[in-house]
Amino acid sequence: MKIVVGQGSCGIAAGANKAYDIFESSIKEKGLQVDLTITGCIGMCYLEPIVDVYDDNNKKTTYVRVTPKIASEIIEKHIIKKNIVKDYTISEEDLKVLSQQKRIALRNCGHINPESIDEYLKKEGYKAIEKCVKEMSPEKVIEEIKISGLRGRGGAGFPTWFKWNAAKNSKGSPKYLVCNADEGDPGAFMDRSVLEGDPHSLIEGMMIGGYAIGANEGIIYVRAEYPLAIVRLKKAIEQAREKGFLGKNIFGCSFDFDIRIKAGAGAFVCGEETALIASLEGERGMPRLKPPFPAQSGYWKKPTNINNVETFANVPWIIANGGQAFANMGTEKSKGTKVFALTGKIKKGGLVEVPMGMTLKEIIFNIGGGIKEDKNFKAVQMGGPSGGCIPASLVDTPVDYESINKTGAIMGSGGMVVMDETTCMVDMARFFLNFTREESCGKCIHCRIGTKRMLEILNRICEGKGKDGDIELLEELAVKIKEGSLCGLGQTAPNPVLSTIRYFREEYEKHIYDKK
Ligand code: SF4
Repeated sequence: MKIVVGQGSCGIAAGANKAYDIFESSIKEKGLQVDLTITGCIGMCYLEPIVDVYDDNNKKTTYVRVTPKIASEIIEKHIIKKNIVKDYTISEEDLKVLSQQKRIALRNCGHINPESIDEYLKKEGYKAIEKCVKEMSPEKVIEEIKISGLRGRGGAGFPTWFKWNAAKNSKGSPKYLVCNADEGDPGAFMDRSVLEGDPHSLIEGMMIGGYAIGANEGIIYVRAEYPLAIVRLKKAIEQAREKGFLGKNIFGCSFDFDIRIKAGAGAFVCGEETALIASLEGERGMPRLKPPFPAQSGYWKKPTNINNVETFANVPWIIANGGQAFANMGTEKSKGTKVFALTGKIKKGGLVEVPMGMTLKEIIFNIGGGIKEDKNFKAVQMGGPSGGCIPASLVDTPVDYESINKTGAIMGSGGMVVMDETTCMVDMARFFLNFTREESCGKCIHCRIGTKRMLEILNRICEGKGKDGDIELLEELAVKIKEGSLCGLGQTAPNPVLSTIRYFREEYEKHIYDKK
């Protein structure tokens, strides 16, 4: 028999370590013949700690919200007496959360032990990079990514093949491949799940990217606030080196590649490519003027390609299954699947991966189970502090880059913060603007001072001291900040305010004019 304990950050926060300890000590004390292992987050964070028990015929039983007491019961009743403890098994309703998804980037998360390269290898791991170096030219690899239609999953949605091609064709040596794992949007944890749950898929995706652009060195810039991700990444890199997947003459071919980790220092702006590069070089993490773009002059002024974790995690699957298989999912211009973090006032909070084009309604209600306490759905914030809120009236909007942009929000990296009827939209806008104000690097006056002035206005509106003309002043400042800011942080900082004024102007007016 086998017991698998979900030990992503969500599982651990819910008490998975305590359950694991009970399993471990019971197995030892009672001399049971049971394999005890771990896995990453499967996406149903609201049910953690989740434990899978496999019987001798490999039939799986999933237990949810496993406390130490339940863990003891599982040992006594299921493991020893072979009786499933039905009170704690996952419901049919909850199983539907997974069955409605299509998991590509998250294909192994929650299914393999992230600390075991052998389990990754059993899932055809490192076969895609082997195929690349043995059977495909770098041009052919880029062509396959072009066919797939894969666009950067970090937020901007830029075609991945185009960036790879630009870096490949740039003059300069050496070339660098960087993974942006500096996931910083409030309410976003898509990349963390891959880093903690399937780090080898990122390593393999980076190797393929390195082979395609002609880089021999990869750097993962990961936020220091993800300690578990860093531990698992380090282990995975060491294991890949030991097996000869990283290093020199990989698969006996003339391809050398290795990866190192750089922990960021908690600055949100370092998610911007040029600020990330500055930070890598030991400078203060401040955005630089573009052009030149990193593909021409990036890390140490050498051609550099940067993609985020989810983008790389898709790549081995695309090479293994063909670009067309990926392009067959999604919409005309937004191909494949996208991972979203469902948070806020939603019943089934966690991670979902769905084909592009699924509507917000399907994601929030069919998969996410709707709004907590059956309250009314009011809006969803997409794209984090750079995005905007989408009101309930637009719940049938398909989730793809173009349709979300039309609402005034952005796809962003995949955060979806769901709000119910009790949420004050002015306060919500204030929360996000305060975040960007704090994270502004201070280089541009419009971003540094403008966000401060906007926040002052929002504060006085929320405190019931708003004045006639404040809404117009917010709008005017927003335009100036967008126009006068160097990087995406400043250019998008006013978005939550603008989108709430657009859809919930009456709430601003109520705060200002109806103070009783
Ligand atoms: Fe820094 Fe803001 Fe200017 Fe970006 S827009 S460079 S975060 S001051």
